[in-house]
Amino acid sequence: MPDALDAYIAEHQGRWTAELRELCAIPSEATDARALQRAADWCEQRLRAAGCGARQITVDGAPPLVVGETGAGARTLICVQHYDVQPAVPLDLWTSPPYDPTLRDGALYARGVDDNKGHLLLRIQAVEAYRAVYGELPIRMRFLIEGEEESGSAHLGAMLATDPTLTDGDGALKEGGSVDSQGRPQLLLGGKGIFYVELRVRTLARDAHSGGATYLPNAAWRLVNALATLMDERGRVLIDGFYDDVRTPTAEERAHVAALPFDADEVRRIYALRAFAFRREDMDVRIASQFEPTCNIDGIVSGFTGEGTKTVIPAVASCKIDFRLVPDQDPARIATLLRAHLDRHGFDDVESVYKEGTRPYRGRWDDPLVRAAKAAAEEAFGREAHLVPTSGGTSPMWAVCHKRSLANVTLGMGHPGSGAHAPNENIVLANYWNAVRATARLYSLYATQE
Ligand SMILES: [Zn+2]
Repeated sequence: MPDALDAYIAEHQGRWTAELRELCAIPSEATDARALQRAADWCEQRLRAAGCGARQITVDGAPPLVVGETGAGARTLICVQHYDVQPAVPLDLWTSPPYDPTLRDGALYARGVDDNKGHLLLRIQAVEAYRAVYGELPIRMRFLIEGEEESGSAHLGAMLATDPTLTDGDGALKEGGSVDSQGRPQLLLGGKGIFYVELRVRTLARDAHSGGATYLPNAAWRLVNALATLMDERGRVLIDGFYDDVRTPTAEERAHVAALPFDADEVRRIYALRAFAFRREDMDVRIASQFEPTCNIDGIVSGFTGEGTKTVIPAVASCKIDFRLVPDQDPARIATLLRAHLDRHGFDDVESVYKEGTRPYRGRWDDPLVRAAKAAAEEAFGREAHLVPTSGGTSPMWAVCHKRSLANVTLGMGHPGSGAHAPNENIVLANYWNAVRATARLYSLYATQE
C-alpha cells in the first residue's frame, strides 16, 4: 500500500530529476578545479535546502570537503560521499554527451549519475522527504562529501584531522549501492584498497633504427620483462611479502559468499568472455572477488603504434598499474615491497612512481546498521537483499571508520549495466525512487534497530 512517503516521492520526481541533471551537468573531473568548486557549492546549498547545517573544510591543494549535519537522536550515521567523477574520455564512445544528462527508456545517462552523484543526491533528497513527511530525523546525520575520491582521497585524512569529531559516529553509509540482474539489492560492507603506481624505464638516449636490435636495449622489452616478474599465470602476485597482511576470511565468511547468487553466464555475456581470467571456475571467481588482492595493468605506452609500419627501438616505456588491496594490506608497505622486488630482480633502472594509495576496509556484519539497511532495502525493492563483504572498488572508508571500527553499508540503485567509470554511465529511474524510499526508511529504522 502506498503511504505518505511514497506520495511525497511521487510528487517530487520532476524537481528531483531536474536537480540530478543539474548536478550531473557539472564536469567535476579531477583536472577541473573550478567545476569541482561549483559541485562543492552545489552540494552545500542542496544540504541547506534539505534543512541541514552545511559548511566546507579546505586544505591546500585539494577540493573542499562538504560537511552537512542534521537530526537528533542517540545514533549518528556518517554519510561518506563524493562529488568528483572519473574522466569522461573517450568521448566518441558516448551515445549522448557525458555532461548533457539525457533520458532514454527510463534511464538517465551522464558521467557520475551512478558514481556517485545520483547516490549522494538521493541521500539528501531522502532527508528532505523524511523531514517533510515525519518531521525531525530520529538520528543524527553527518554528510562528508569529498571531491577527490576518484583520484585517491589524498587529502581526506588531513581534512578530517582538522576536526576529529567528524569521525565520531555509530555507523557509516558508504557511497554507491546497486541491485543485481534480478533486481535484488546488494549491500556492500566494505571496499578494497588501492595502490596505484607508474613504472617508467629509459634504455637509450633516443629512439634507434631496429637494425641495432642485436645490441641496443629496447625499453618496451625491458618493461615487459619487469612486468612478467610481478604475477604468475594464475593471478598470484610474486612480490615477496605481498600476502603477509592479508586477513584470512573466516569459514563463515567463505560459506556466506559461496551461497550468494552469482550469475556467471550474465557476466560472460556482458563481456563476451570465453573463460574467466586465471582459469578460475565460477566458485573461485566469487571467493577471489571478495578476498583476493590483484595486480592490474591499466595501460602500457611505448614506441610506434600508429598506422603502417615503422622499424624502431623505443628508448622509453611506461605503464600504470593498480593493486587492489584487501584488509589489512597497507599501500605504503606494498610500495616498499614492489621497489625491493624490482631491485632484487635486476630492474633497478625501472623507476616506480607512487600515484595514490587508499587502505582497504571491511566492516562488521553483526551490527544494527546492517540489519536496518537490509530491512529498508527489502521493503523498498520488494526483493531479498544480499550482504556482500566487499566491493571490488575503493572508497576511503578506512579513514572514516577505523578509529571506532564502524560498520559501513551501501544502500543504492546502480545496476549491472550502469557503466560506472565507463562510457554511457546510466541509472534506471525506477530504481532511483526505490532507493530514495529505502534510504528514508533507513533513517527511521536505524534509530531503534537492535
Ligand atoms: Zn565512487
